Amino acid sequence: MKVCILTLFPELFDPFWDHGIIRRAVQGQKISPFTINIRDHAKGRHRVTDDRPYGGGCGMVMKPEPMTAALAKAKTRMPSATTLLLSPQGKRFDQRLAQSLAFADGLILACGRYEGVDERFIDQHVDVEISIGDFVLTGGELGAMVVIDAVARLIPGVLGNEDSAGSDTFSDGLVEHAHYTRPPTFDNEPVPDVLLSGNHQEIDRWRRETALIRTVLKRPDLLAQRELSRQERQTLEKWRRDIDRLIG
Ligand code: SAM
Repeated sequence: MKVCILTLFPELFDPFWDHGIIRRAVQGQKISPFTINIRDHAKGRHRVTDDRPYGGGCGMVMKPEPMTAALAKAKTRMPSATTLLLSPQGKRFDQRLAQSLAFADGLILACGRYEGVDERFIDQHVDVEISIGDFVLTGGELGAMVVIDAVARLIPGVLGNEDSAGSDTFSDGLVEHAHYTRPPTFDNEPVPDVLLSGNHQEIDRWRRETALIRTVLKRPDLLAQRELSRQERQTLEKWRRDIDRLIG
């Protein structure tokens, strides 16, 4: 998948492409990223990319012409890409949105700075505004990295079998089961016996049940959006009976 970032700070992305699974994805050409410096598309000797807001007020606004020219440049290499703008006003980014973006025919991510971007650029060119959470960053670049990271690992072939996304938190509307590795006891805390038993049916059952119970404890909001299977109901009912017994 081609991925283009429109930014005033392209150098922020250099270390991002160069580490871990993202590096592997780039080397394996699962993602082909490039950045476009918005300033290179600004006119005049000073290549100004921002200006004072009409109507007054503090801060600066990113001018629409350089952003539009930068986007046009990106589109020459990826005409049917989806254009995203990072914005705290956007649709909240989540695993479902990441999954749908993993099927896009290329992504262009526009990063704002200052007070944001002239609204006419958004009206005319942006397919989806995306927020990475209810807080305000100084620029869209970190948000773009978050989106690319989450999307890239869902592109077939990016994760090896050993780090499959299939059982990840959110993939089935639940948080994932706990993970343990050697040593078998650490700081007086042993690994659950079942994980050392070699009984894969029992291990699968333990993982499914504990994922469900952890979701109740950590993210009950996820269960409100999800139908429980008969088996999951039985697990929760058994858990409730165990708790009732404990508290008498
Ligand atoms: N004045 C804008 C507002 O109140 O909506 C905030 C502008 S913010 C200081 C500058 C840029 O950071 C934005 O244009 C956007 O690209 C990025 N940004 C800030 N918070 C973000 C968030 N939660 N998610 C995604 N991008 C964000």
